[in-house]
Amino acid sequence: MLKLENVSKFYYNKGIIASGFTKVNLELKIGEFVAITGSSGSGKSTLLNVISGLDSYEEGEMFINGKETSHFTKKEFEDYRRKYIANIFQSFNLINSYTVYQNVELVMLLNGYKKHQVKKKVLKIIDQVGLTKFRNTKVSKLSGGQKQRVAIARAIVKETPIIVADEPTGNLDSKSANEVIEILKNVAKDKLVIIVTHNIEQVEQYCTRIIKMNDGKIIENTVKKEITEEIKPKESKYTNLSFFNKYRLGIRNTFNIFAKFCLLFAVFLFMGASILAEYAGFQVAEEETQKDGYSSIFNDLSENRLLIHKKDKTYFTNEDYAKIKSLDNIDYLVEDDIFLESNVDLINVKSARTDTFGDMVSLEGMSFNGNMLDIANFKGTLDAGRMPENENEMILCITDTDASEYFKQFENEILNQTYSTWGQEGGYAEEETVNIGGTTKINLKIVGIQYTKEKNNFSQKFYVYHSVLEKLRKDMNARFSTMQILINDKYEQYTVRTSKNVERGKAIIDDDLKYSFKDEKAIGKKIRINVSNIYYEETLNLEISNTYSKSNFKTLNSEGKYDDYRYSIFINPEDLDVLFNKPSYQSSIFVKDAKQIENTILDLENIGITSKKVTDFKVQEGEIYKRVIKIIKVIITTILIFALFFISYLIIKIILKSRNIYYTTLRMLGATYKNIKRILDIELFTNSTLSYLILILFIYANKLNFINIGGIAKLSNFLHLKEYVITYIIIIVISRLISERFSRQIFKDTAISTYNEEY
Ligand code: ADP
Ligand code: MG
Repeated sequence: MLKLENVSKFYYNKGIIASGFTKVNLELKIGEFVAITGSSGSGKSTLLNVISGLDSYEEGEMFINGKETSHFTKKEFEDYRRKYIANIFQSFNLINSYTVYQNVELVMLLNGYKKHQVKKKVLKIIDQVGLTKFRNTKVSKLSGGQKQRVAIARAIVKETPIIVADEPTGNLDSKSANEVIEILKNVAKDKLVIIVTHNIEQVEQYCTRIIKMNDGKIIENTVKKEITEEIKPKESKYTNLSFFNKYRLGIRNTFNIFAKFCLLFAVFLFMGASILAEYAGFQVAEEETQKDGYSSIFNDLSENRLLIHKKDKTYFTNEDYAKIKSLDNIDYLVEDDIFLESNVDLINVKSARTDTFGDMVSLEGMSFNGNMLDIANFKGTLDAGRMPENENEMILCITDTDASEYFKQFENEILNQTYSTWGQEGGYAEEETVNIGGTTKINLKIVGIQYTKEKNNFSQKFYVYHSVLEKLRKDMNARFSTMQILINDKYEQYTVRTSKNVERGKAIIDDDLKYSFKDEKAIGKKIRINVSNIYYEETLNLEISNTYSKSNFKTLNSEGKYDDYRYSIFINPEDLDVLFNKPSYQSSIFVKDAKQIENTILDLENIGITSKKVTDFKVQEGEIYKRVIKIIKVIITTILIFALFFISYLIIKIILKSRNIYYTTLRMLGATYKNIKRILDIELFTNSTLSYLILILFIYANKLNFINIGGIAKLSNFLHLKEYVITYIIIIVISRLISERFSRQIFKDTAISTYNEEY
């Protein structure tokens, strides 16, 4: 049955070779009850471990059933152990958190039996070792003798032809020891039992052979009873641990040690909370930057504002506007949206003076700065005065609370006073100055006042008739345009002014400017004016018809002084209109629900209108910032996930350290690497899923205001199904990587070395 020929076992330890045993020759049969004795360190345990396939050997050959084993792989040794060997240890090697029944049952489950198939047999064997009363008692509560009987029951239930017991009575009192030997003797009839003991008297009457070892050698091999009859060994039958039982064990392990369950739970809770908090935190930062953005073109960056223009690049007609207004989700439409981008000064006419630069300023009395808006878009009610009745009247809307408090005291001085737009700065644009002398002067009487409370809006609103906006539109267009003046293809920096006394298509320039021409002659030269802005481009070709000087200046401007109008180019006002008095090529829509804005964009697309969210035009600084945040986000998330993995791995490893014995025991009982990994997987999966569910419940309890813990409700607004799912996947992947690493460590060495490390 079992035959050793010149087998030797060496230990390599830090360069020193120690011998476990040398040149052992031995042949053992089924039916034998073999006792091995010898002083401590003589090699008994090493011999048993080699016979058990728990440890490898370096020399000679061991035969099992006539089969050589020296070339066995790890896997083949595992099979060998499952088919032939059952071990009993001095230190019992039981799973303390399991009951007697569960310990015995475990072996059968690992061998692939179904739970219902094993019950009868497990109970019968528990009875056989006299522990029926204790079958549902946790092993940790039993005495040493009882524990060893559980270990024997576990060895019997495995139904292997060989039982190997290393000092099974070493930790027992003599009464218990006798009971244990008694049970083993009864089992030995159709098996090969090998037992190491110091107390040879205890076994002498039962054993068939006594082997004495000394210094790694067999020095005595006494056969006390010859076994003549050759019994064929019955290999233990097994299949793989069933799918269902893996889950059963995994879930049993999740809950069987409460402290461990709580610790793992806390680790997973921490993992989930950190990932979700990190994500939500970044969303908050991103939103903040979105708020902070600004644009050099667009003043009003409301998230419900859409800029629209027609796909065919033509200007908007009233029909177009009617169509747009009939769409869903449209709050209101601003036809001349250019007025939203630039503030206008309104100066009290009575107190207006011209300053030394020719600009109109108000020295006393009120003046206002704000957006001109169409009265059709006026909302709410007036707080003072009445609605305008004609285009010379307007409503003043004070938008912030502090200003309202201030202006309320002066209501009577503001109402029914006339204010003028005249004196606006000439238009300008980013690259080149558009020098247009003078702007349209419109007088408006404030007849109504409204006070509103708008956050972060410190400019006022002026509601006027649409016709007023149309008159001012060319000034606005000029402000937002880049203008180039070319004379004979050379750029010149002149100020463009208007006079009715210049013929259309002609220009009259300052006489002093003629010196910039080679031949000092300006008359008859061509002038080209190019205007471009975000909405359109326009070109005007003119011919210089005359020059002006102090003597003939009055014909161009009867009121002004020549000295205030130097280096200018006078053109006909209608020619200026060609450049700037344009219909609306672009308008703005304000939607009711900013969340639905994408749908509105599609609706507009269907009626031939292209639209863009004004928020998309926020400045580059914001964009770069956002991109930087995105990169940082990726980096930090990666670091976080790695850190979480290693922190969790270390903590979980410490928590599971106490479980090493459990897994090593499983391994000795025949669990494969895959089995152990799976059982651990299931345990971590169950625990992490539970903790994650609790975490989500906790978040929702905050969200729904059942509990209220600092900012969680606010942060949770940034978490949607996608984020919850991704976080869950990350946790599951991390927990699987951990179980993988952990089980690989358990299987790193031979079973016995892992086991030895534990004791
Ligand atoms: P016994 O069980 O008879 O007391 P062992 O089989 O445990 O003896 O030990 C036999 C010899 O092998 C001893 O000299 C011991 O020091 C050595 N030995 C046992 N295990 C190891 C090991 N893991 N590494 C190095 N030497 C070992
Ligand atoms: Mg020993």
